[in-house]
Amino acid sequence: MRLEERVRELILSNPSHLKSGLERIAKKLKIKNVSGNQLMIIKAAKKAARQELKGIEIVPIFSSVPIQFEESNDVEAKFAELAKRLGYETPKKRPTLKIRKEKKYNVLVIGDLHLPFERPGYLQFCIDTYKKHKCNRVVFIGDIIDSHYSSFHATDPDGLGGGAELELCIERVKDWYEAFPQAEICIGNHDAIIMRKAFDSGVPKIWIKDFNDVLGTPNWKWVTDTYINGIRYVHGHKSSKARTATRRDMVSTVTGHFHTDFYIDYMFGKTRSLFAMAVGCGIDDSQYAFAYAAGGKKNAIGCGVVLDGGETPILVRMDLERYKN
Ligand SMILES: [Zn+2]
Repeated sequence: MRLEERVRELILSNPSHLKSGLERIAKKLKIKNVSGNQLMIIKAAKKAARQELKGIEIVPIFSSVPIQFEESNDVEAKFAELAKRLGYETPKKRPTLKIRKEKKYNVLVIGDLHLPFERPGYLQFCIDTYKKHKCNRVVFIGDIIDSHYSSFHATDPDGLGGGAELELCIERVKDWYEAFPQAEICIGNHDAIIMRKAFDSGVPKIWIKDFNDVLGTPNWKWVTDTYINGIRYVHGHKSSKARTATRRDMVSTVTGHFHTDFYIDYMFGKTRSLFAMAVGCGIDDSQYAFAYAAGGKKNAIGCGVVLDGGETPILVRMDLERYKN
């Protein structure tokens, strides 16, 4: 039986349904996922039934359409067109409130690299950690490039020239980009050296090439900070140490920058808890570029993961023996 006939029968057998809403009638007729056009047909049939009950002669509005309408969108469209011609409005489906939930990520946090002076094996270590913890998002915590030649530390006169160092760096980035083609990079102080120097020399930004253009990493997103599942990721040279930044801004914070810091610190409030995480780094401290730190505290070589949508921070120490080569 066609829909309008079923509606008619329902209402004639129980006229109290004239007071029922369209969706209620659809439900009564056991129509699942009622479409806008079906609602329109119910509306028209309901009106016709009302008139019939009042004794007004009915001009059947759908009889000129010889085909069955149910199940077929095409036929529904024809009805919609016909109803439009007859002056019926298509009732809109009641809007449903949709709350968009953010996907829960497992984030790999890669420590400072200072390319081309990264620790051999660190890339493989990061790939293994990514797989082991089933990560689906990657954040480089910053200082991807060292720019030793241009840095504010004294430049080693026996070191590489600026051009050679950058070329080597671009070469090394290739492997990282291949391993993690989608990633966010929190811009570190070393990454920003060239920009700062240009700024200090009065060079407008428009003259400067984009990070991705220089490094050949079109899909990487360079940001000052990023929030994933409510956790903040930031390099650390401006935000201060993770612990301080977490307490001050009341948001769980993950940082790099301090190569010797490797900790997770929880803070418990009355209604919620926060964590601060410092992820260490992946540098090769035997390189001349780190001479400024020689004799100081040992660097922490490792990375971090933040699992279960920001619930579980874990620090992963790199086994230096295992990844020696
Ligand atoms: Zn650094």
